[in-house]
Amino acid sequence: MVWGCFSWIRVRPINLKTNCVVGMEGNQTVLNPVFMCSSTGCHFPPQVFAYDHCFWSMDESDTDKFAGQDVVFQCLGESLLDNAFLGYNACIFAYGQTGSGKSYTMMGSSEQPGLIPRLCSSLFDRTLQEQREGESFTVEVSFMEIYNEKVRDLLDPKGSRQALRVREHKVFGPYVDGLSRLAVACYKDIECLMSEGNKSRTVAATNMNEESSRSHAVFNIILTHTLMDLGSGTSGEKVSKLSLVDLAGSERAAKTGATGERMKEGSNINKSLSTLGLVISALADQGAGKNKTKFVPYRDSVLTWLLKDSLGGNSRTAMVATVSPAADNYDETLATLRYADRAKSIVNHAVVNEDPNA
Ligand code: ADP
Ligand code: MG
Repeated sequence: MVWGCFSWIRVRPINLKTNCVVGMEGNQTVLNPVFMCSSTGCHFPPQVFAYDHCFWSMDESDTDKFAGQDVVFQCLGESLLDNAFLGYNACIFAYGQTGSGKSYTMMGSSEQPGLIPRLCSSLFDRTLQEQREGESFTVEVSFMEIYNEKVRDLLDPKGSRQALRVREHKVFGPYVDGLSRLAVACYKDIECLMSEGNKSRTVAATNMNEESSRSHAVFNIILTHTLMDLGSGTSGEKVSKLSLVDLAGSERAAKTGATGERMKEGSNINKSLSTLGLVISALADQGAGKNKTKFVPYRDSVLTWLLKDSLGGNSRTAMVATVSPAADNYDETLATLRYADRAKSIVNHAVVNEDPNA
């Protein structure tokens, strides 16, 4: 199956009394100018981008247009689950500047759960619905953080903060050696594990946002569907992996006023993010038929190496780019809109992960 990468934009509510410069109409996002050209005194023209879907979460009073957590899940989550049950891998990246709503979209809060909790609970509902005689489903999860190019297990039962090694299996590709993979029987199990995992995420204060998260969080759900042939007594397996990635803030390290250790973190975080950008560009060029043999630098960062399959490989992949509507954030918003625009050209080649002799 050949699939393009989905590209979605979500605009968060405005928090300060500042001008709103983002508009959405259908599948188009418009960024209105805040600057004037110094020589002509004219405003720059608005920038218009088209995506697979635009979510207007700016203003709840606009009930026709407003997209809350439920709408985002219906649009994005359901089709990924359909594919997971067919045996395809899927991946969602949340990309955007700190404070733009990545974690709100992926994880949300207990009152307003985001994509991960909704996907998990819907997944369990479906395993019950689809269970037939001779069929069984198992669900396992893993949760890791990539911080400063090091991988840490967020579900380590021993609470160890040790960095784990990334290795490469000849057949299955890159993996994290020693990462806990825990079986879960219901949504409550995942909820407990997730809140433990989130507590141990590394969060460092920066000038820009006290709670700014400088790490990438990767939550994996592995669904195994076992089919028994009751007549012959043989069984086969379909395995699919859902990777849900909450990326570190996309803003440049310099803007956050980072120095010393923070700067080193910044440059390493930027290394994963900038490599992700380079990988996306190379894949976009391939997808657009510009350069079919262009080198893709997957191995240049931990993030891109581990998520190699989700980027141009065996996966249904989607990028949710979150933006602030505030005039003050114009530059970052434009950069994010451009990034998401490039992601549209990625083409993935997905196959069902089937092992009839398992
Ligand atoms: P990020 O993870 O991108 O740094 P957060 O998801 O933590 O940003 O969002 C920053 C703040 O804005 C949080 O308090 C969050 O609850 C709020 N927020 C973000 N997006 C939305 C939204 N779509 N609707 C309501 N509140 C939001
Ligand atoms: Mg966050």
